Amino acid sequence: MALEPSRTVAELRELQQLTGDDDGAQRVAWTDTWERARAWLGEHVAQTGAEETVDAAGNQWFTLHGRSDRAVLIGGHIDSVPNGGWLDGALNVVAGVEVLRRLAEEGQPATTVRLVNWADEEGARFGRSLFGSSAAAGSMADQDELRARHDADGVPLPDALRDHGVELDSAIDARSQLEGAAAYVELHIEQGPVLEAMNLPLGVVLGTFGVERHAVTFRGQAAHAGSTPMDQRRDALAGAAKLELEIREIAKRMGGGAVCTIGGVVTKPGIVTSVVETAECLLDQRHLDAAKLASMLAEAKEASKRIAEEENIDVEWQRIWNIEPILFDERLIELAEEAVNEVAGTSHRLPSGPLHDAAEVARAGVPTVMLFVQSLRGLSHTKLEDTKEEHLELSVRALDGLATKTIDLVASG
Ligand SMILES: [Zn+2]
Repeated sequence: MALEPSRTVAELRELQQLTGDDDGAQRVAWTDTWERARAWLGEHVAQTGAEETVDAAGNQWFTLHGRSDRAVLIGGHIDSVPNGGWLDGALNVVAGVEVLRRLAEEGQPATTVRLVNWADEEGARFGRSLFGSSAAAGSMADQDELRARHDADGVPLPDALRDHGVELDSAIDARSQLEGAAAYVELHIEQGPVLEAMNLPLGVVLGTFGVERHAVTFRGQAAHAGSTPMDQRRDALAGAAKLELEIREIAKRMGGGAVCTIGGVVTKPGIVTSVVETAECLLDQRHLDAAKLASMLAEAKEASKRIAEEENIDVEWQRIWNIEPILFDERLIELAEEAVNEVAGTSHRLPSGPLHDAAEVARAGVPTVMLFVQSLRGLSHTKLEDTKEEHLELSVRALDGLATKTIDLVASG
């Protein structure tokens, strides 16, 4: 069976029919719709003869045994956010099925090839992204915190997982899955506007941004909006407003794709008749270079202190979460570039702003690379998410080319 990229597009539409509605994809992890999507995937892979297993974290594996036990992994996630797009995560796995079909048809591959559908990449129900891949990578260290999490209806995370056959406490046993993994490749939609602006269908991902996420709280004094003269106010919102403008300059000065965002500000007391007493800002900073990320954080802290002084208010920082930049494998980046050039004529190297399962696998020490295919209008996590069909087909060809080159590399090493 020769590679048939148009089949991938047809199957993605079939999956959307089965698990989506007028508002978009509804494959939220640990739900019945997600299970339906997983069963659908299993049925489609079954024709290839690949062996299906589910690990302790709920990750779904399809293994084509090769002449060597060293394994080349192809990964993705079939879960979506609520009202999500039809391609995010699903493209990776459905394109992977097409690659498995092509490989199975040609007889036993030189190395073992495993397609993995990671469990709960999005973290849409419980707010914890990369669940399955972090368990497999051995980097899941927050079981205590996860045990206390609830969804919007008050269902505890461990109960929801148990309904789907996963025990939180033994999820990290999934770690054994990466033993023998020689390489990991993942195709994903870009979810940003860079490739479209360059008029390129495909790009090679250098790594994922490091992230620093903080709650920055300015504290002033609540005071009557009518009786407090302008020059006697200690207005916490003024601190938040100035910091928001400052972080744009910090990102601009740093360059290299740096991004800084204040994604939320909560003000208290939050009524029209009072000066704002506290303004809690949620700050997110990202860069591919660890030193540059650290200096962006230092600059933002410095700026917040200066602003607090100017406004006669206080400022306090609390780290919410952080992750170091994760760089992909040099040799695999070269192979990916060759594969993209072969199908598209030109390639481009770019960092990934969003995190991906690939970052967890790379963090575990498995040589990793990702391909991005252009996203229209840069939109994702919405039903408006889309990619031209011709680009989707090219992306299947590029993934197939990359898988072939990676198998050759692993088999010869
Ligand atoms: Zn995704």
